[in-house]
Amino acid sequence: MIEKYAQFVGEDEIDAIVKLAERLQDLSILHVNSTAAGGGVAEILNRMVPLMRELGLRVDWKVIRGDAEFFTATKTFHNALQGTVRDVPSHLYSVYEKWQEINANELDLDYDVVFIHDPQPAGLIKYRKRGKWIWRCHIDLSTPHPEVWAFLKRYVSMYDLAIFHIPEFARDDLEIPQLLIPPSIDPLSPKNKELPPTTVERIVAKFDVDTERPILLQVSRFDWAKDPLGVVEAYRLAKRHVPDLQLVYLGSPAHDDPEGEAVYKKTVEAAGGDSDIHLLMLPPDSHVEVNAFQRAATVVMQKSIREGFGLTVSEALWKSKPVVGGRAGGIKIQVIHGVTGFLATSPRVAAHYVTFLLREKEIREKMGAAGREHVRRNFLITHHLRRYLMAIAYATG
Ligand code: UDP
Repeated sequence: MIEKYAQFVGEDEIDAIVKLAERLQDLSILHVNSTAAGGGVAEILNRMVPLMRELGLRVDWKVIRGDAEFFTATKTFHNALQGTVRDVPSHLYSVYEKWQEINANELDLDYDVVFIHDPQPAGLIKYRKRGKWIWRCHIDLSTPHPEVWAFLKRYVSMYDLAIFHIPEFARDDLEIPQLLIPPSIDPLSPKNKELPPTTVERIVAKFDVDTERPILLQVSRFDWAKDPLGVVEAYRLAKRHVPDLQLVYLGSPAHDDPEGEAVYKKTVEAAGGDSDIHLLMLPPDSHVEVNAFQRAATVVMQKSIREGFGLTVSEALWKSKPVVGGRAGGIKIQVIHGVTGFLATSPRVAAHYVTFLLREKEIREKMGAAGREHVRRNFLITHHLRRYLMAIAYATG
């Protein structure tokens, strides 16, 4: 399977990956995160783990469990660490600790290399018996809630290595080694593979979206950090200039995100009775549907206020769509302002760029092509995989 990626990145890149993997064949490797489906981390692991196995590596993936209280605690920490929540009830710390212990007792963590993804399972390190442990952070840690970060930092400091997406997230107050590795999309996955135009049209029409009229799309969990109300407002402002515009907001629930339902309801309220707004809540494995909408879109938006990386941006750019993105986290390294799309903070500015792109077909196409090339060079799974292998080689010395 790895050979199939040569068409995108060339034979030399594949050779380098195979050689690196050969050196690591004897190691047992484990990935741990908090959900098997929904959100970017699960999206990546679903593709990365089989690919690593294909290379002959001994890789497992385990998902921690918890009750509603635990996921409320981890979502509160998540929001606090990304700087959007100030009030953190103190009992949540002990809820978090309790579930770290339960999971440590239930999961076999006896591996040579353990990748722990994000804060949810970070506390498992307390129960490490052996191996090199790597903390892979997928969130925006640039302005964390001081108390929550102090709590998490006690665990993170016990790791052998931490990996962040962009320099802004790396921490001066951590004494362990830190690497920067952006995440990636898989060009051969159901989410990103080529689709015949007839399939795209059929899928989009199934949801009553008109493929003859312009489509503004955002694909995101219903999460305040993704600014769904700002998306609706930007659409409304753009529609004043482009009356036949339709908005599709495609979301899905994630097992570790208890807030989705409430945010969805508020977004429905904000949409009012506008029949050109399609708020679709699809199952988390609707990869081909997401793919089809990204291909059918005229302009893609990712109006996040806070963002770790925003895989949806690379997914859209790969399909040659310009993206109007929030000036947040990893969006800033994907959307090169004026080249692969535009960065916009307020709904008004976002609407301005959306309107401009809707009107300028030639510029849309140029930016789309630049976006695809930017992703090909920087954000494909092979790039990510090579860097993970280098991180393993580094950690195991
Ligand atoms: N996604 C999906 N269906 C949805 C919403 C999101 O398949 O309805 C996928 C999306 O295509 C992307 C991932 O979930 O691959 C979201 O990753 P991202 O980094 O954009 O955000 P996160 O959810 O991790 O904050």
